[in-house]
Amino acid sequence: MTDPLDTDDLAPEPVAAEDECPRCLKPVALCVCDTVVPIENRIGLLILQHPQEQAKELGTARLTALHLTDAVFKIGLSWPSLAAALGRPADPKRWAVLYLGSMRPEDFPPGRELVVLDRKGAPLPEQEAALDEIEGVVVLDGTWSQAKTLWWRNAWMLKGRRIALKPQRPSLYGKLRREPRHEALSTLESSAFLLSRLEGRPEIETALLASFARMLERYRATQPDRPRPAGPRPDRRRPQQRRGRAR
Ligand SMILES: [Zn+2]
Repeated sequence: MTDPLDTDDLAPEPVAAEDECPRCLKPVALCVCDTVVPIENRIGLLILQHPQEQAKELGTARLTALHLTDAVFKIGLSWPSLAAALGRPADPKRWAVLYLGSMRPEDFPPGRELVVLDRKGAPLPEQEAALDEIEGVVVLDGTWSQAKTLWWRNAWMLKGRRIALKPQRPSLYGKLRREPRHEALSTLESSAFLLSRLEGRPEIETALLASFARMLERYRATQPDRPRPAGPRPDRRRPQQRRGRAR
């Protein structure tokens, strides 16, 4: 944007293979924008991305935001308030941040896939009431340590609720991305999980996961060009899994 030479007559057609989709900013080979139909979500979504996460080919933050009519995607390290990050007035007490700490599955109340926590990380007694109050959710996009940095740099997050998830299955990323915790979901999967549960609309998760699966399929299809020790089929897994569960 600040490039003084960025004018129409000076911009040559880029080489096809290097083409990038202007919406999702992915190489066209990985773009699934053509099938994205934005969903009108009632619970707002704010995705804050650590600046160093941007270049990740397999990132999902931008794609997630494209899927939803009420989603704000921001890149940076700190914002003075929730309203400043969102670009509109908002009460941080009615927003929840996706919890970064680890919750053991047995610590979830029976039958619950998500739980609202207080500032100390303990489940609130009135779960239904706490869930009803939530107007929006903040998801931090980046590695574990990048997300921690965002958490500590934005004091307003402490005013909000925290929500922990109990995913029923591991991330679709599979072995494409190594996460410190086996249950770690992508930003897209976490957001889809949260919004579909909070709104009681499973179709939100279905639509988002379909796009994610399609993007991963396209990514894997590009892989035969690159030397890789593993076979090209994602479902042909080696028996000894380092961590996580077999599906
Ligand atoms: Zn795209």
